[in-house]
Amino acid sequence: MEIGIIGAGAAGVSLLDALSLTEPPPSGVTVFEGSSCLWRGRAYQPDVDAVRVNAPPALMSIRHDDQLHYTRWLAEHDGHLDTLLGVPIVPRAVYGEYLEATAMAAISRLRHRGCHVSVINDWVTGYSPLLTRTGGTHTLDHAVLCVGGGRPLDHYGLEGSPGFVLEPYPLARTLYGVPDGSHVVVIGSGLTAVDIVAALAANGHSGPITLLSRQGVLPYVQQTPVKLEFRHLTRENLPDTFAGLVAAMRAELGEDLAPLAAEITGAEDAVERLRRQLSEVDSPHPGRRMLSAAVHMFGPVVWPRLPAGERTVLRTQHFRTITSLASPMVPGNAEILLRLFDSGQLRLMSGVPKIEPAMRGFRVRGARELSADVVLNAVNPPAHAIPARTEPLVSSLLDAGVITLPATGGVSLRSGGVHTLGGITASTSFITPSVPTLAAGASAVAAEITSGR
Ligand SMILES: Cc1cc2nc3c(=O)[nH]c(=O)nc-3n(C[C@H](O)[C@H](O)[C@H](O)COP(=O)(O)OP(=O)(O)OC[C@H]3O[C@@H](n4cnc5c(N)ncnc54)[C@H](O)[C@@H]3O)c2cc1C
Repeated sequence: MEIGIIGAGAAGVSLLDALSLTEPPPSGVTVFEGSSCLWRGRAYQPDVDAVRVNAPPALMSIRHDDQLHYTRWLAEHDGHLDTLLGVPIVPRAVYGEYLEATAMAAISRLRHRGCHVSVINDWVTGYSPLLTRTGGTHTLDHAVLCVGGGRPLDHYGLEGSPGFVLEPYPLARTLYGVPDGSHVVVIGSGLTAVDIVAALAANGHSGPITLLSRQGVLPYVQQTPVKLEFRHLTRENLPDTFAGLVAAMRAELGEDLAPLAAEITGAEDAVERLRRQLSEVDSPHPGRRMLSAAVHMFGPVVWPRLPAGERTVLRTQHFRTITSLASPMVPGNAEILLRLFDSGQLRLMSGVPKIEPAMRGFRVRGARELSADVVLNAVNPPAHAIPARTEPLVSSLLDAGVITLPATGGVSLRSGGVHTLGGITASTSFITPSVPTLAAGASAVAAEITSGR
């Protein structure tokens, strides 16, 4: 059986690892990666040390049924302790080394077991037979699209203006020319904005930094990891309505539901909430930890079962709250932000401003009027976006009648032989798939492929 993995980011590595452990192994695996970021993808490419992973080691294992896989690798790579969390939070480039080491180990395991493995550094542009940009053709029994998300959108039409950066990663490159003392405006206030602030702080940037945020919110601050035990919300007993989910959380948390509900519904100034949450990193209330874990553990299964109307409400009205909860910032970064807010160097401006190129730099008109020297986009591509480089392949799959493109985005599969893993999968929620979500998906795809043998 010949298997093609299209895209060698975290999802592709996880699938390669899962396939290397199947019994019997596939007869052939070909990995296609178009960019130079082999085994790392967008998130874990080489970058400055200030750009860190945003989860504790137990939630960063690329192997679904081995939660300590990454922790064991990490034991040989000292340092990067987040003192408030009490666990290592490494630069994302270091996590990229883990992905690369895992891919190398999987390839040698597969070869040792008699499977031939090829890695082709080219874009896949067509299907049946699989076609690459430089004209190579490949006949496969299964092709798995692990192509990641799309490109950020240029909401303000600023691309091409000097001083504007649409794709902020790698920050090592995009912050390189930012003059010290300049006013940096960041579009967005999520985790990418937090990365930008942490990297500017590490560079010793002395000028003002303004985060533009539609709703004036910041990601929540992560809490120390504790062992969580779900007794009511279990894989065997997952509700298929929002009310059912709330009832299950109530059963899990009992009296601890009240602080969680207050946290979600309470109105509080964003910086004061950051300060309070930073002082509650060790809080004994399990609510936030449980809800965040539940989103990643059960979200992928529950999401497609929810009524369409409820999915629309969650996606359109509660996007920011759910994203802040599901993807909190690490305390180390929260400390950096708070220090800069308190010193007045960092500001958060809420609302939807207008941003226009000016004679020098940019003019930002919103709650206040500002001039900026540099504008960095920190809004990630929309959920389920199809990467531009993958559009020719997707068109060819559509022409072959193998997939459909639902109005809500992403790719739905119509027949066997083609599979998807990660954000392009239409049935997944709007939350960026985390490493455990990708690993669970990789394990399921590997099982599906091998069971059809
Ligand atoms: C900035 C950022 C930070 C994150 N940090 C964390 C974190 O700390 N912890 C966590 O759990 N999750 C994190 N995530 C979420 C998740 O881990 C990442 O999104 C993850 O990298 C997704 O991996 P992927 O393989 O699906 O996509 P990608 O990493 O985007 O990889 C897809 C690969 O496919 C290639 N490709 C695309 N189309 C083609 C084609 N047609 N032919 C050949 N190759 C193709 C691309 O070049 C790319 O290398 C983060 C996400 C982002 C965006």
